[in-house]
Amino acid sequence: MTDSLSTEQRSALMSRIRGVNTEPERLVRSFLHQLGFRFKLYTRNLPSKPDIVLPKYKTVIFVHGCFWHGHRYCRKGKLPRSNVQFWKEKIAYNRTRDRAARRDLKAGGWNVVVVWECQARNVEMLECALSPLIHQLQRTHGRN
Ligand SMILES: [Zn+2]
Repeated sequence: MTDSLSTEQRSALMSRIRGVNTEPERLVRSFLHQLGFRFKLYTRNLPSKPDIVLPKYKTVIFVHGCFWHGHRYCRKGKLPRSNVQFWKEKIAYNRTRDRAARRDLKAGGWNVVVVWECQARNVEMLECALSPLIHQLQRTHGRN
């Protein structure tokens, strides 16, 4: 079966995938900010475009939408019932691209943290996802 998306639909889809400053990203940023982290939204000279860059901690963070990036075993990561093949390929492509981005960043000496949308919306899960970074902050600044 061929996919039934028009050119306009497809470009709307692509722009949404590349969309910046989505709600989950904002949640992660404000959480980090409250903890005392200061960061950049992007940095040139990186092999890809992480959503949050913390040069001081040599750490980058990707905030992934559960659907677009194919969060396994997640309710929000489920495929729609129509156009299954199209979505499968689309999301497999995104996952491959994500993997390559992580690999390139790690090769450049960066710590890579992935926060899923569903984690961003739950403070305890978010804290858990960011715990290596939080420990690093505590080590750097001591206890306040
Ligand atoms: Zn999820």
